[in-house]
Amino acid sequence: LAKEKGKNRYQFFNTELNDVVNRRMTLEVELRKAMELQQVSLHYQPKFSLKENRLVGMEALLRWDHPVLGSVSPAEFIPIAEETGQINAIGEWVIKTACKQNKIWYDQGHRLCVSVNVSARQLEQFDFVRMVKSALLETGLSPAYLELEITESIMQNTTESTEVLQSIKEYGVKTSLDDFGTGYSSLYILKELPIDAIKIDKSFIDNMEDATNLSIIKTIIDIGLNLNLQVVAEGIEHAYQIEYLRGFNCGYGQGYFFSEPVPADKFEEKLKLDLLLKQ
Ligand code: C2E
Ligand code: MG
Ligand code: MG
Ligand code: MG
Repeated sequence: LAKEKGKNRYQFFNTELNDVVNRRMTLEVELRKAMELQQVSLHYQPKFSLKENRLVGMEALLRWDHPVLGSVSPAEFIPIAEETGQINAIGEWVIKTACKQNKIWYDQGHRLCVSVNVSARQLEQFDFVRMVKSALLETGLSPAYLELEITESIMQNTTESTEVLQSIKEYGVKTSLDDFGTGYSSLYILKELPIDAIKIDKSFIDNMEDATNLSIIKTIIDIGLNLNLQVVAEGIEHAYQIEYLRGFNCGYGQGYFFSEPVPADKFEEKLKLDLLLKQ
């Protein structure tokens, strides 16, 4: 009987493993066709100045809507795209699309900086800098209105990444360090990399009831301010979090409290209201 049970359990695990492998293979195959079939799009999440109470930019976030699989989270498909190398083609599309869209909004009178997430693997492409430049030249967007968000994972390749970021910055594009505080060498990376901003990871912002956590947030903000970096809090969901962050002199914020990431047309509706308010 025990043997029978053991066998069943083995089969159970085997089936689960099969499911994981199948899902992974399906996503990999489907992702290859996703761009051509126009299943991917960008959503935009507003970024606000907490001091001036105004919209200063937006983060472009990739969305994949598959006719059968439904909406697949970037948290699931980006790692696959990174492993297979598909991230390079997808990432190029993301940068071009975000620049093109921001130029449209610029021409409507808005001065906003669009932030685009960039994977470590993309920075390693030999012609990455040229690709970014041509995206700006082709769309006519000024480099000052584009920001690239990177994570600490690029530290696996420090020297090359530093050089790439340096030339990007010399060209006038902004750089920011995403998910700050969750990686291994947060302080070292601040010393090594040419960056303009840090984004405090949502996991810190999530529980401000905790005194230790609150001290960590305050300390991260102070580090950023002392290094003359923009400090952005991500994942703000409640008004009380903004009060704390303002008290700590955190300059910028993003989160569902302000708005979830929305499609371009929805974002544009918000912008129209914003312009009306200013008149
Ligand atoms: P991220 O760059 O840290 O983006 C922030 C994530 O938090 C987004 O999830 C956003 O929708 C979500 N978020 C923002 N405010 C709130 C909030 O108040 N509450 C909660 N619960 N969530 C909030 P999303 O869009 O699912 O993206 C997940 C991650 O996938 C991103 O994290 C980024 O690392 C990656 N990603 C997304 N688009 C791209 C892309 O175009 N290229 C690359 N390389 N990575 C991307
Ligand atoms: Mg980001
Ligand atoms: Mg990220
Ligand atoms: Mg983040």
